[in-house]
Amino acid sequence: MIVGVLALQGDVAEHERALERVGVSARRIRVPADLEGISALVLPGGESTTILMMIDSSDLRAPLTAWIAEGRPTLGTCAGLVLLADRVIDGRSDQVSLGGLGVTVQRNGFGRQRFSFEAPVSAPTLGADFDGVFIRAPRIIDVDAGTEVLGSLLEGDSAEPVLVQRGALLGCAFHPELSRDDRLHQRLVGLV
Ligand code: GLN
Repeated sequence: MIVGVLALQGDVAEHERALERVGVSARRIRVPADLEGISALVLPGGESTTILMMIDSSDLRAPLTAWIAEGRPTLGTCAGLVLLADRVIDGRSDQVSLGGLGVTVQRNGFGRQRFSFEAPVSAPTLGADFDGVFIRAPRIIDVDAGTEVLGSLLEGDSAEPVLVQRGALLGCAFHPELSRDDRLHQRLVGLV
């Protein structure tokens, strides 16, 4: 099985290694033809504004939007979550995401105090907590009906969603590929 990793900008290599650890081949996606024959897709972290500009200049917007509309398995981490989100707050004015995942995210939504941090992510249906690595992470501020919250940051009585799934679209605000926790890549492959 071949899983594509959008390789325009961001932490592509870490996702390739995670995919190899779960036993599938990774292919870098840079032009539309690269999508042929892949079974699932990873949208890595990086800078969503840059990635979106490069998606447009690489003629990838239409095929990626079609991929998502067909409900093909896709994992978006951090900036990748911004790409998948139906609604984005604090994006650049000309920033238009791909959409498909029924959430509102706020770019860099944890603010200056929590620019980058590590915190446990509670994900009871997936087993033990994730070691969540958050780097200028988007904040999920609204979750539509039909989008399931799989993982949250717990603080006192409040639970902040940071890992969501809608159909075969998985979005997470943290970087599982950096903590070498392969459960989400495994789950992506399981959705094929
Ligand atoms: N803040 C970045 C963005 O909005 C995401 C950061 C990341 O992917 N680590 O695109």
